[in-house]
Amino acid sequence: MSENRSQTHFYYRVQPKAPVFKSFTYKSVLKLNKGQRVKIPFGKRKLNGFILEEEPAPLMEDQKIKEILDWDQNSIPLSEKRLNWMKWLSAYYHYPLGSILDLSFLQESFKKKDSPLKTDQVMTFQESELLKLNKEQENCVNKILQHPNFQTHLIHGVTGSGKTEIYIQLIAHALKQNKQALVLLPEISLTPQIVQRLEKIFLNQIALLHSQVRPAQKKQAWKSLLSGQKNLLVGTRSALFCPLPRLGLIVIDEEHDSSFKQEDKFRYHARDSAIVLAKELDIPIVLGSATPDFSSYKKALDSSYKLYELKQRAFKQSLPQVTVVDLKNKAEKSSYFWLSDLLLKKVGDTLNQGKQVALFVNRRGQATALLCASCGQARKCLNCDISLTLHRQDHLICHYCSFLEKKPLRCPSCQSDRWIEKGFGTQKVEEELKKLFPQFKTLRVDRDSVPTQEEMTNFIKQVESNQVQIIIGTQMLSKGLNFPSIYLVGLILADMDFHLPDFRAEERSFQTLLQMAGRAGRAGFGEVILQTFNPQHSSILFAEKHDYKGFFLNGIKSREVWSYPPFSRLCLLRIDSLKEKEGRDFARQTAKQAEKLALPFQKGQKVKYGIQILGPSPAPLVKIKNRYRFQILIKGENYRLLDQFLKKLFLEVPKRSFIQLKADRDPSSMF
Ligand code: ADP
Ligand code: ZN
Ligand code: ZN
Repeated sequence: MSENRSQTHFYYRVQPKAPVFKSFTYKSVLKLNKGQRVKIPFGKRKLNGFILEEEPAPLMEDQKIKEILDWDQNSIPLSEKRLNWMKWLSAYYHYPLGSILDLSFLQESFKKKDSPLKTDQVMTFQESELLKLNKEQENCVNKILQHPNFQTHLIHGVTGSGKTEIYIQLIAHALKQNKQALVLLPEISLTPQIVQRLEKIFLNQIALLHSQVRPAQKKQAWKSLLSGQKNLLVGTRSALFCPLPRLGLIVIDEEHDSSFKQEDKFRYHARDSAIVLAKELDIPIVLGSATPDFSSYKKALDSSYKLYELKQRAFKQSLPQVTVVDLKNKAEKSSYFWLSDLLLKKVGDTLNQGKQVALFVNRRGQATALLCASCGQARKCLNCDISLTLHRQDHLICHYCSFLEKKPLRCPSCQSDRWIEKGFGTQKVEEELKKLFPQFKTLRVDRDSVPTQEEMTNFIKQVESNQVQIIIGTQMLSKGLNFPSIYLVGLILADMDFHLPDFRAEERSFQTLLQMAGRAGRAGFGEVILQTFNPQHSSILFAEKHDYKGFFLNGIKSREVWSYPPFSRLCLLRIDSLKEKEGRDFARQTAKQAEKLALPFQKGQKVKYGIQILGPSPAPLVKIKNRYRFQILIKGENYRLLDQFLKKLFLEVPKRSFIQLKADRDPSSMF
């Protein structure tokens, strides 16, 4: 009955938008394109799917091959390069390809209904608004422009060195070449000033994409970029998935920022993913930061990235003078242990001179470290050199290797029985300052209530117009804000982040210290008071001198000794289960299986340890939403070994109902 049917059909490999790692063959009477979105029958349902490639017709008619139901006439198919990139992402992050491909399409109907946008718009921008670059900036721009093809560039510029102006010149160059540019920022609501600057220059060329953009605006932005009416996309991490057809430049500002890592479902890192995309598209990518990620800076020193050092502030303002205050003695006698006499005096002086003060209370995360109030030491794990976390007030646990100890009564080093368990928040600092300086206006901005873009813009106005004199905030205020009027910056407790249960705790806290200090004195003069229980801690010593490189060279040594990234690659297996016992048993079995599978990877010439399995241990927050969470940390000597190992492991681990096993490649936090 159907002898010649196979000749009248085309066959395609289709990736359904479903949590599966396989793709399937479908047929169609119409010729379709690679990268096109289609509607397919899948089990009993109808799902979206994506055509991966055309397949040869089977020799015999196969009744089981189902027919494609419909195809999307409204969107442009994904390019081969974008497809390749997304296949890589799916394999690397162990996340279903269909769900990743879906990120590059708008949620809308398949039927053509929009009139096409006109594409013949002339590209305009405000040449007259461009600043004349200083020597360092100009040199950097010229060198980057010598690389029209794939190259990762890292701009390490001190706070206020004018990195934005460099991005602007590079973007202008790309637009002139009829290419499009993508700028990724950590969190748009926290960085409104750079957006305003870009909007001023690129006027009608710029489109914004971030979580606060409404669906209708998103659609508008997306369409204008795909049609080429707009050519500069500024957004947060997911903007990476907007398939700009003529992408010629990617910029990642504040590349060290941990918000580039998505912390749920698809746990990708936008910076790392962007570098892979740039490579696939063979275009340059520019990373910028005053405090680069250790991995990025190491690659730059190893010459795989090109490094540009901007050592001076843009118009030669000096970096602020930093004074370190030791809080230890204070803590013994005063309930105000967090406010030193020096800081109190400086705040008063600054306010009386009509200048502004910013106080940072550097507190984040749920886990509480135990810190001796007298000698400042934190309890550390004997196996991992990582701070232990306090659980249920009575015992301390290592989140890496599950080492456990009872909370000691006295500090083993100095015998004091005063422990500091909890940080204190911005609220308390605000209350006290209001009492101390009732004649001045205070403003508190903290992360608990992540501000909207409007609130942030309003906040900036109040600061700029000098309506407030005392600003109290968390480290979110340290992100890219530029207030020339702030003279004094006080860091209330600089140690707070030193003891987070993470090998990156020191790197992160140093970054935050330097970024916060960088908010002071942008107009020319400024002062920073840094209060700490650990004045000899390397983060403090190097922050005092604004010495990023010194801190890096010092810190990278211990990474090497302990084989932490960038000297190894990590994957955190996250297990969660409805029932506690089953989850724990499954975690144990999986770890055992992993140990066995790791054996062949641990032998061989030139292999030091190959694959190392740490754990299982309960996650720092064991119970969330009635699910119990456990984790196993897998350390690979290098990328290739870890990849091979994980592939094997995922094939072998049995599936369990009610238990989820998720991979978190290059985990950025252990929470
Ligand atoms: P960064 O991002 O490196 O911390 P910004 O790009 O915010 O620094 O620049 C800091 C300040 O210096 C901004 O007010 C900016 O307008 C100014 N600036 C940057 N480059 C120049 C320049 N070449 N001439 C004059 N002012 C500049
Ligand atoms: Zn002590
Ligand atoms: Zn440990």
